[in-house]
Amino acid sequence: RADAGGQLSNPPRPNTPRVLGIAIPSPLRRLFDYRPCREAPPGGWQPGLRVRVPFGRRQLVGVVVECRDGSELPLADLKPVDTCLDGTPLPADWLWLCRFTARYYQHALGDTLHQAMPVLLRQGRPLEARTRERWQPTPAGLETDPPGLARAPRQAELLAMLRQHPHGLGTQAILAQSFTREQLRALADKGLVGCREEPLTAPWKAGEPLLAEPPLPLNSEQATALAALHERLDAYHPCLLEGVTGSGKTEVYLQLIEAVVGRGRQALVLVPEIGLTPQTLARFRSRFRVPVVALHSGLTDNERLDAWEAAASGRAPIVIGTRSAIFTPLARPGAIIVDEEHDGSFKQQDGLRYHARDLAVARAHRHGIPVVLGSATPSLESLARARSGDWRHLLLTRRASRHAPARLELVDLRGRRRQGGLIPPVIEAIRETLTAGHQVLVFINRRGFAPTLACHACGWLAECDHCDARMTLHRQPPLLACHHCDRRRALPDVCPSCGSGDLRPLGSGTERTEETLAALFPEVPVHRIDRDSTRRRDAFERVLTEVRRGEPCLLVGTQMLAKGHHLPHVTLVVVVNADAGLYASDFRALEQSAQLLVQVAGRAGRAAHPGRVLVQTLHGDDPHLRRLAEQGYAALADQLLEERRAAGLPPFRFLALLRLESPREEAVNALGGQAADALRSWLGERGLAVDCLGPVPAPMERRQNRYHLQLMLASSRRSMLHEAGAGLVAWLEATPEARRVRWSLDIDPQTL
Ligand code: ADP
Ligand code: ZN
Ligand code: ZN
Repeated sequence: RADAGGQLSNPPRPNTPRVLGIAIPSPLRRLFDYRPCREAPPGGWQPGLRVRVPFGRRQLVGVVVECRDGSELPLADLKPVDTCLDGTPLPADWLWLCRFTARYYQHALGDTLHQAMPVLLRQGRPLEARTRERWQPTPAGLETDPPGLARAPRQAELLAMLRQHPHGLGTQAILAQSFTREQLRALADKGLVGCREEPLTAPWKAGEPLLAEPPLPLNSEQATALAALHERLDAYHPCLLEGVTGSGKTEVYLQLIEAVVGRGRQALVLVPEIGLTPQTLARFRSRFRVPVVALHSGLTDNERLDAWEAAASGRAPIVIGTRSAIFTPLARPGAIIVDEEHDGSFKQQDGLRYHARDLAVARAHRHGIPVVLGSATPSLESLARARSGDWRHLLLTRRASRHAPARLELVDLRGRRRQGGLIPPVIEAIRETLTAGHQVLVFINRRGFAPTLACHACGWLAECDHCDARMTLHRQPPLLACHHCDRRRALPDVCPSCGSGDLRPLGSGTERTEETLAALFPEVPVHRIDRDSTRRRDAFERVLTEVRRGEPCLLVGTQMLAKGHHLPHVTLVVVVNADAGLYASDFRALEQSAQLLVQVAGRAGRAAHPGRVLVQTLHGDDPHLRRLAEQGYAALADQLLEERRAAGLPPFRFLALLRLESPREEAVNALGGQAADALRSWLGERGLAVDCLGPVPAPMERRQNRYHLQLMLASSRRSMLHEAGAGLVAWLEATPEARRVRWSLDIDPQTL
């Protein structure tokens, strides 16, 4: 063989490693060695191939991660792989992201790969485009009087229908017109129609028109932001797009995507769980002529695999999805957008505890592409990076509509009689708004009728037997429910403690406020939106459609209502109680409740009429709340950042949290103490600047009858924190007592 230079080169090295290091879906943080099976895949053995392997008494699907010639075990002891499931490896960008994720979050690679692939791939299904049949007339079928149909009138009708569809019709569409497969086959046998297979997501060809409708002319701030993004489409370019609610961030995303796809690249858009609504999708789909593939929890396994494949093959130019969509492979990545980047749903809270926003940044860095993080209320992490100049800071301060976002008006609750949680001047404001023909949104972050049931004779409170928590009183249907473990109990007729019949609801939840408002304003509809009222699919959408018609009405709901929805006729927003986050133990509680308040307030006055936001509070002179109300989120964020710096908290130091849980209190306490001791002496030996705090009981120590304990690691050096985390994990894996306690390490925990 001669290469281009005319010299003899070595024959290609037969790609037959003697050992395959395979990641298996298991919590063990290691690879397992196997021998290759006799039949090698067509392209040789490579990382990213799925294989079926014997594991104990089971057969599992694993992924080849290393191809080498040696093992710590004698080669003769290694079992061979049963079969290789792929002809070509799973996408390399996906494999890279999974390896990065496993390393960064100190999670087992096998489990990471497993979590990051569609269910059908976990089960061994091939990664290939599903196709559908498309039927078209043949040239013979297009002739004026095709033969053989004189005594087959239905076949003649079917052919006539197909002749009206020059691009062909799918089988389902044909059957839906009450034709049969037999009639199709008969026409095919006569040579009058033909059938071809095509992928479910049709490929888009560069050069075809991209837009289905023209973009909006941008205002000057939007234009400046877009120009900044256009400047660097071919390089890593992290940008924080900080724009007040309704300032037209989405329009900036749409026009960025237009540029990216116009260059033949793909755009990946992440949205919060609550944000992937039919309207969001409709907005993307009505702008673009090219396919917009959506990845969300409502897909069937087949649909999910199709979407993944369409993204991996590059046929899908635009992919939009919730948290886990960050693991979607892209053949030609062009930009990543994270909308509402501060949203808590981007962090997975169990198993593989990753943060999709942070992975988006890592991925964009790897690909060398722009990443845009958008929010009206950016996380302090992102704000700090934008202010330091690490990231570009793009600002949209004006709303596209006429009215600026409404100011928060604090309303003092102290000493006022409440009805369903609302005081008389607020009820009056609601009345005026309804009389003016507008809509009112009442936000209350508790579902159920009341936060709990109390005995007025002895002070008994309904508590959960399994958690350190009160049970919530529900009326529809009537019962007590624990929102932490889902335990339910019938309503007692008399106090279980003293026998008194004087049991009363304590406080207000959505059901009670709904009931009160329905009694006060019988002439207008009251729509309640919370997890209970929207259990039935489409219930939420039906209400929103109704509300968008614009008749006066009241909306009562939890944070499901607060985010993202465009409710043009709402001019008054009422926050029943702003106090929950003010004095919570979690250092992020203030940041999170400020974000939520601003999001809720952003629902008011988005169209023709200005809005008003009334915030009820028992702590009207709280300095944080006042700063938010008087100077806005950015001013509060400045203050919180200063406080975090002084306290040595994120984003100025990095945290990792070890969580321990067990039904046996002694077991968690013993292991927690041992782990802290081992870690402290190990940190000392190595001279690592990492603080180890605790162990301390978790904020809700008993949950589902299990005891929860935690140990916090903090450091201003990320590398040291990671070394300490790795040391701790190694210690836990080697300690027999740790097998009887459930433990997990949470890197960059979002809630404590
Ligand atoms: P955000 O994502 O910042 O909350 P949106 O992109 O949803 O804001 O925009 C809010 C409203 O303003 C939408 O109805 C949108 O169509 C409209 N809008 C956005 N940009 C413009 C523009 N440049 N000109 C006119 N209307 C706009
Ligand atoms: Zn009692
Ligand atoms: Zn409980």
